[in-house]
Parts: sequence; structure tokens; C-alpha cells
Amino acid sequence: MGRGVWTKLAGHVLPEGPILAGLLALLRWAPRPTLAAFADFYPVAVLAAGLWLGWRFHRSRLVFALLVLALANWALRAFPPAASAPPPTQVILQATAFLLPLNLAAISIGSERGILTPAGLARVGAILLQVGLVAALAQRAPLASRAVFETAFLPGALFGWTRLGQPVLAAFLASAAALTVFLFFSSSPAPSRAFLWTVALAFLALRAARPGPAATVTVATAGLLLVVAVVEASFTMAYQDGLTGLPGRRSLTEELQRLSGRYAVAMVDVDHFKKFNDTYGHDAGDQVLRMVAARLGAVSGGGRSFRYGGEEFAVLFPGKTVDECLPVLEELRTAVEETRFTLRGRLRPRKKPDAPKGSGKKRRHLSITVSIGISDHEETDLAPDKVVQAADRALYRAKEGGRNRVAQ
Ligand code: GH3
Ligand code: MG
Ligand code: MG
Repeated sequence: MGRGVWTKLAGHVLPEGPILAGLLALLRWAPRPTLAAFADFYPVAVLAAGLWLGWRFHRSRLVFALLVLALANWALRAFPPAASAPPPTQVILQATAFLLPLNLAAISIGSERGILTPAGLARVGAILLQVGLVAALAQRAPLASRAVFETAFLPGALFGWTRLGQPVLAAFLASAAALTVFLFFSSSPAPSRAFLWTVALAFLALRAARPGPAATVTVATAGLLLVVAVVEASFTMAYQDGLTGLPGRRSLTEELQRLSGRYAVAMVDVDHFKKFNDTYGHDAGDQVLRMVAARLGAVSGGGRSFRYGGEEFAVLFPGKTVDECLPVLEELRTAVEETRFTLRGRLRPRKKPDAPKGSGKKRRHLSITVSIGISDHEETDLAPDKVVQAADRALYRAKEGGRNRVAQ
């Protein structure tokens, strides 16, 4: 249980927490020359790492997001918007601050469509078009543009803390709101969360309209969060099974190598799954795997479940013997058996399948069962793969014995 709580907590504060804390500490305590020196190489390092990663892992959204952050940072440094700056410079600040969050939100919500593909090049074109637009506004119509960015919807006295115009604040607010909604409905929230933080940091950097090392380091950290999110997502992809969300076989292998002393391994296999797939279709089969994984994921007794491959799962019990695990596994087997599995309408077979045995009332629900084999490891005698093999043999006995049972 302790482990679950910590994992949950870590999920909320990692990886952003320490990075943001580091940024705050740097801005608060680093001497100015140190910060200035840091600001000279840090953004370049983040940009280089991010572009390389984005290119190698085909993460076009990372590349585009870093591009807009770099452009915004460059605009801010090339045209420092002091309060006394001429109107064109003011327009560059406001327009940049207006477009940045909207672009970040659009990139986050957009799909992964490549960089040097037609869709990717169109996006690059859209970004460059905005640069041209900002330049044209600043050069050709600075006063009119400035007036637009100074439009006030609410009393100006409320916004003494920033030089950003109210349209800019509205753009930040709308982008953050869109990202929050998207985050809420997203199946993989980590990247969207990083984008939300990026918008927040971009706001922090631009709010004071005081370009310098602090703003640059803040914008670069916004980029770093996106880079780290991609690294984390790649790690997740490698270690987690995409269909069920359980850790995958690679995780099990590494976990087994870390364990020593006593532990038990159970192998779980769905009964007659091929027949189920053939009757109801592969999509319905996938639903079954998700249901079984959900039951296994909630295993008690200190067990940890993995998707071993196909319709086979493994449950690892560190520090446990076979006898200690048997009741837990029996409970698990029953939980799967008692889950009433109803096919979603879309997935019903065209042709009505042969009615399963049982009363008319039960017929609409399909019963899924699993067979389980378990073996344990005492001290250091057996290699991990031998324990898994022994559990596999026990599983075979469970199948031979009539399925829907636990064997040792
Ligand atoms: P037994 O009771 O002896 O375990 O019989 P079984 O039919 O479950 O065993 P078998 O190994 O013959 O069939 C496993 C089937 O699992 C074959 C394959 O089509 C299906 N399968 C493997 N991975 C997936 C998957 O990711 N999704 C779906 N829908 N089916 C899968
Ligand atoms: Mg099998
Ligand atoms: Mg099977």
C-alpha cells in the first residue's frame, strides 16, 4: 500500500516539480552574472537536445513548440521592450505574447503529423507567416496595432502588475483553458500537462516584459519541460503495455533481476481466448484483455501485475511463498470469473453467436475465466527465468486440470 501512495504522489509532482523548483531557486538565489552566463548556453542546450530528440523520435510537436519558444525568446531579446521603447517594439512584444500561448495550445492539441511532411511543412509555414505578420504590423501600422493590443475589456487599474495588454492576457487564459480541457480528456496526459506548464512559464517570462537572463532562463525551462516529457513518454512506451496500461514484459524482466531472496511468480492465461477472438472479433478480445488487466492491476497481497505477452499476464509477489499467494490468486481468479462482460453494441458480431449454456437471463453476459500457475523462489538457488518456467508448467497443469483454476 505504501508503494501505491508514493507512486501516486510521484505521478503528480514528477517530472515537473523538481525542474520548476530548480528554476525558482535559480531565479531567486543565483547571482546575476551566474544567471547571465547560464542564460547564454542553457537555451541552446535545450534547443539542441530537443531538436535532436524530436527529429530522432519523430516528435514534430516538440520541434514546433521549441521553434515558437525560440522565436519568442529571440524577438524579446532582439527588440527589448522597455516602457519607453518606440511603438513598433511595443507591438512586437504584445503580438509575440499574444501568439505564443495560442501556438503552444494549437501544437499540443494538434496531432503528430511529421516535420518534413506536407502537414509538417504547412505548420512551419504557418509559424513563419506569423513572424512576417508581426513584422508587417510593427513596421506598417505600429500605432493602430498598438491600439488594438491596448483594447481594454476590464478596468485597466486591475492590471497594473503587467504591461501585457488585455487581449494578450485573454489569449493566455484561453490557451490555458483549452489545454486544461484537453488534459482532462486526454488518454496520455503527461505531454499535455507539460504544455500547460510551458504556457504558464511563458506567461511568467513575458509578464514583466523585462527581457534578460531571467526571462530567457524561464523560457528555456519551458522548453526543457517539453523535452523531458518526450523522454518520459518514450520510457513509458518502452516499459508499459499500450493496450492494458500494465507494465510490460521488459519491466518484469528487470524487476526479476532486481529481486533476490524469496519471491513468487504467478502466470495468468485467459481461457479459450482464441475461440473468443474468433467468435466476437479482435476488438472484443482487446476489451477482455483490458478487463482482465484491470482486475490483475488491483491485485492484493503486495502483488504487482504485468502483461507478459498476448493473453498472458504475470503477477510478481516479492517476499512471498506459494502458500501465502494462493488465497490472493484464488480471489483474483474469482474476480475475473464474476466480472460480467457485456459486449458494446458496436462490437457485437453481425451473426448472432451460438447461445452459450445457462439460463436465458444470463445469456447476454459473457463469462471470462483465467487459469493461473504459480511457483516461488527461495534464497538464491534458481535463476529468475527458471521460476517463470516453473510457473508456466504449473499453468499448464491448471489448463490440463480443466481451466479456471489455480495450480502450483
Ligand atoms: P487456452 O485456454 O489453452 O489458453 O486457449 P487459448 O485459445 O486462450 O490459447 P491460444 O494460445 O491458442 O490463443 C491465444 C490467442 O490470443 C491467440 C491470439 O489470437 C490471441 N491474442 C494474443 N494477443 C492478443 C491481443 O493483443 N489482442 C487480441 N484480441 N487477441 C490476442
Ligand atoms: Mg496463451
Ligand atoms: Mg489462453
